[in-house]
Amino acid sequence: MKKFIYPLFLVIIFGCQQAEKRTVAQLSLAEVQNEITAAETKRLLFTLAADSMKGRDSDHKGYFKAAQFVTDYFATHSILPHYPNYQDTLSSKGVKSFNVVGQIGTYDPKKKTVLIGAHLDHVGIRGTEGDTIYNGANDNATGSTAVLQIGKFLAQFDWDKNILLALFADEEKGLRGAYHLAQRFKEEGVSLEYMVNFEMLGTTLTSGSNQVYMTGYNYSNMPQQMNAIAPNFVQFLPQAKALNLFMRSDNYAFYKALNTPAFTLSSFDFKNFNFYHKAGDEAEKLEVENMNQIISTAAFTLAKMLHQKTVITLTPEAQEAPLERE
Ligand SMILES: [Zn+2]
Repeated sequence: MKKFIYPLFLVIIFGCQQAEKRTVAQLSLAEVQNEITAAETKRLLFTLAADSMKGRDSDHKGYFKAAQFVTDYFATHSILPHYPNYQDTLSSKGVKSFNVVGQIGTYDPKKKTVLIGAHLDHVGIRGTEGDTIYNGANDNATGSTAVLQIGKFLAQFDWDKNILLALFADEEKGLRGAYHLAQRFKEEGVSLEYMVNFEMLGTTLTSGSNQVYMTGYNYSNMPQQMNAIAPNFVQFLPQAKALNLFMRSDNYAFYKALNTPAFTLSSFDFKNFNFYHKAGDEAEKLEVENMNQIISTAAFTLAKMLHQKTVITLTPEAQEAPLERE
C-alpha cells in the first residue's frame, strides 16, 4: 500500500500546477516576442484584408464575414462573449451592424475595466473599374490583428480587473460603433479605467522600428508609464497634435462619454504610407515583422501595466481636448 502513496502525491501536485495560470511577474519582453509570432500576425492580417472581405463595410456585407472570423477566433482562444453572441448591435443610416465585444475571464461589475480596441470596418467597394475593393489592410486589419493577438496573449493569465476587447463597426461612418458602445458602457455603469485603441500599425514609424505614437500624447501619463516598461516604444508625433488625431478614432468616443483616459497607438506618420483610404491599401505592402514587434511590445506593456496596477490619469492639458468632432 505504501508504495502507491508517493506516485499519487506526485499526481496531485502535478495536477494542481497544471491548473494554475501563468503569472506576469517573471515575464520578459523577449519571451513575449517569441510567443506572439509573425506567422500568426501575417495570417490574421492577410485573412482580414482579403478580397473576400469586400473592404469590410456593413453595406457590402464584408464586415459581417470579418466579424464572424473575429468571433470564431475569440471563441477558440477562451475569450468569452461580453454580450450575447459577442454582439453589441447598432444601426447606421438604416443598416444594422454590430461591434464584436469579448471579455477575458468573468466580468465583475464592481471591478474596474480596461478596454482594448480597434475598428474592424473599412470603406468597402468603390467605383466600377480596376481594383474596386478597398481592402483596408493597414486601416485597420493591422489594428484588429493587434487586438486579436493581444487578447489571446492576455487570456492566458488571471487578472484582478475586467479586460474587454472590442472590434468596432462603422468607424469609417463617423465612429458610430464606438459611440454606441461608449454610451452603452455609460448606461451600464461600467467603471472604465482606461482604453487603448490600435490604428494602422503596418509600416515603420520614420523615427525608428518597433515604435508607435500615441494620440493625445499630452493628455495623460500613459506614454510615460508605457515607456517605463518598454523604453522609447511610445513617441510624440507633432502632426498627431496638429491634426487632432485624438478625436479621429474610436478612443475619442470613450474619452467623451466617460471622461476617461482613452488613446490610440499608431505607426502611420503621413510619410510612411501612401495608400490611406485608397484601393492600394493591401496586405502585401505592409511590414509584418515590425508590426509583430509592435504588437508583442504592446502586449508586454499592457500585461505589465495590468500586473503592476499602473494608475493612468488625465493631465490638466486634457481639459484642452476638443469635445466635439469637427
Ligand atoms: Zn482607421
